[in-house]
Amino acid sequence: MTVRLRFAPSPTGFLHVGGVRTAIYNYLYARSKSGKFLLRIEDTDIERSKKEWIDVILDGLKWLKIEWDEDIVFQSERIDIYKEYAEKLVREGKAYYCFCSEEELEEERKIQKLEKKPIKYSRKCLKRKKEEIEKFLKEGKEKTIRFYIPEGETKFNDLIHGEIVFKNEEIEDFIILRSDGTPTYNFACVIDDNYMGITHVIRGDDHIPNTPKQILLYNALGFKIPEFAHLPMILGPDRKKLSKRHGATSVLEYKEEGFLPEALFNFLALLGWSPGEDREIISREEMIKIFDIKDCRKSASIFDRNKLLWLNSEYIKRKDLDELVDISLEFLRKEKWWKREFEKDRSYLKKVIELTRERAKVLKDIPYLIEYFYIDEFGYDIEGVERYFGNPKVFEGLEEIKSEFEKLSEWNEKII
Ligand code: GLU
Repeated sequence: MTVRLRFAPSPTGFLHVGGVRTAIYNYLYARSKSGKFLLRIEDTDIERSKKEWIDVILDGLKWLKIEWDEDIVFQSERIDIYKEYAEKLVREGKAYYCFCSEEELEEERKIQKLEKKPIKYSRKCLKRKKEEIEKFLKEGKEKTIRFYIPEGETKFNDLIHGEIVFKNEEIEDFIILRSDGTPTYNFACVIDDNYMGITHVIRGDDHIPNTPKQILLYNALGFKIPEFAHLPMILGPDRKKLSKRHGATSVLEYKEEGFLPEALFNFLALLGWSPGEDREIISREEMIKIFDIKDCRKSASIFDRNKLLWLNSEYIKRKDLDELVDISLEFLRKEKWWKREFEKDRSYLKKVIELTRERAKVLKDIPYLIEYFYIDEFGYDIEGVERYFGNPKVFEGLEEIKSEFEKLSEWNEKII
């Protein structure tokens, strides 16, 4: 059997580092088993989904070289298919039309809250008589389709967390098709995972409560249930869910700051997975060889920016010099002092970058580190100015060094 995995982002915002970590694990799993890694865009929420966000997602994945196989599946192109399946479930008595208005549902929930009962749809529309339903349908009364939750319990064996059991009575008859004819997430997800032949679903553990709903749908539709693995959350250093407050969370922001895609890939891959032996720098090729979902942690991981900076500096040191020059140029060209004519002498630029790359944590540091090789009016490190310029002793020493340097016959590393 060839394994088939997918990454299924919703294009309602930028590509979050947490999302990319999910993509990386699906990608590594697929590649490690010589399987397929597919991409699905979950764009059924017409109001929130934007074409720009799709581009941002694709650009981010391409930058990180997370290559997908086959054509991208767009859910917005499959609306009729979800509708057909939902109607089929209604015909089979596994789902039913719900004519309750939002106000009625709100009222119901209010009463449940007051009576301290679990908030759950009352199944009012399940109890309606056939004639009444037909009358409503003829009138064109607004309706949704709800999935009927059977009695019993639903369990699955999560590849990371082990067995997880849910009591079905805790799940309400959830809506699978909205009144505007669009499917809800759980429904479209099951139809498409089946359509795409997905064998393993790896996603964030915020989706654990969705999984029993999806399993019940798989059973109702007669589809084969895939394996599930839910990844623990990524937290900020304060142990709260990683968010904007903790700094950049969008992948393209990391690109703009001057992180190398290899470094970010390496860092995110190790955020929840460890191949053992405390290894930190692992190439993608090697990860593909050794990746095993069993080595994923159950507990949340902390996003440590300093570790990312360190990894990035290591990747900058190891980067092919010509490639490093090319990417550095993108950053240099944004500087006011940089002139196109400096680029004529590439071999000089290469030497300068080779000499200074040791000290760069991000590529944004490069212009600052090489400025004094090109212009005389360069800036000083403020901290350094404060620490040394006020101290006359520093200048005494420098004067001495200067006069010694002036006596040198040649200016090279050895003689200096
Ligand atoms: N669009 C969903 C999300 O971004 C996909 C979840 C899943 O992988 O099933 O969270």
